[in-house]
Amino acid sequence: MILILLGPPGAGKGTQAKLLAAAFSIPHISTGDMFRDQKARGTELGKKVQAIMDSGGLVTDDITNSMVDERLARADVMSGCILDGYPRTVGQAEHLDRLLAKLGRGVDRVLSYEVSEEALVDRIGGRRSCPACGAVYHLTQNPPSRVGTCDKEGVALVQREDDKPEKVRNRMQEYAAKTAPLKGYYAGRGLVVELDGLGAPEAILAETRRRLGR
Ligand code: AMP
Repeated sequence: MILILLGPPGAGKGTQAKLLAAAFSIPHISTGDMFRDQKARGTELGKKVQAIMDSGGLVTDDITNSMVDERLARADVMSGCILDGYPRTVGQAEHLDRLLAKLGRGVDRVLSYEVSEEALVDRIGGRRSCPACGAVYHLTQNPPSRVGTCDKEGVALVQREDDKPEKVRNRMQEYAAKTAPLKGYYAGRGLVVELDGLGAPEAILAETRRRLGR
């Protein structure tokens, strides 16, 4: 099963993607995580995308598509995958369609998480993550046991550079202009499942499974 997770920054895609990947035993593919990993390791690609990511802009389709091509060529996606943060433009969606067609596959469902702007601002403002293991917390809704410290790694939590208020505005604009049209792109093919993105992660997962019938 190939699922695409769609929703604005802060809609909870990353959290749901991890839960869905565990529930269906298929890989979670997050282009944001892949780019952050490249940045952290200081690779050529990481250096190339650093400035654009930190500003809240989108990496070019060419760079993103080639990274995804490599990832989807790996054997572990045979049974499916959860695509989190990809595609993010109509160009990427068209590229993905061509790629999957070559592999004799297609997108099964597009999960669209609907969340009010007010909730998004709160979620992003309170989000903190572990620079070592990538675990994500929220200052009030999902705090670590020791303030500001990762439960697993014991290191200080950080705020993502692009979660800072001035960058968030840019990400929201990018989302509205380039990513939101994807809902119509997939709705035309009857693939979109709209979900309320507010609530306890486990409850949202249960509702998703009910709607998917599995
Ligand atoms: P995310 O963790 O999904 O919010 O992604 C963080 C950042 O990585 C984005 O703001 C973009 O700069 C970049 N990025 C992630 N996925 C994509 C994509 N599919 N297309 C372009 N840029 C992306």
